[in-house]
Amino acid sequence: MNLELTIKETDKKKFDKGSLIKEMHNFAERYAEKTNTFFCLDPSITSVIIAGLADYKQKYELPLCQCRNFRSERVVIELNFWICPCVAMRERKECHCKLFVRPNESNIVQPQKIPLITVYKNLIFNLYK
Ligand code: SF4
Repeated sequence: MNLELTIKETDKKKFDKGSLIKEMHNFAERYAEKTNTFFCLDPSITSVIIAGLADYKQKYELPLCQCRNFRSERVVIELNFWICPCVAMRERKECHCKLFVRPNESNIVQPQKIPLITVYKNLIFNLYK
């Protein structure tokens, strides 16, 4: 078996968008549970953020915060501030994207789970609206 081909296949699988969305979805659920934060009232927000994190993970292997405009994404990676969970979230449970919502914030209703199918439905809906 050609080793180079095998490696390429492994890389392809590793950076497959569907796998990355699943990975970021798992991360979001586990991290919400760990930090006692919740998902937003509007599941489309949660879905879009999860997908955005997956996009960055595909591009850089790191989930940069997807709701910020970075002048230089490479500099942001070096600074290690906006890699999700960002420093504000890690230190103060502040997620300005509303992926993770604290219990005392008004727009929570969801538990710390969002079905993967809901994420996909919202992404498809956003594509065709
Ligand atoms: Fe993640 Fe922080 Fe962005 Fe929230 S604000 S999505 S915790 S990087």
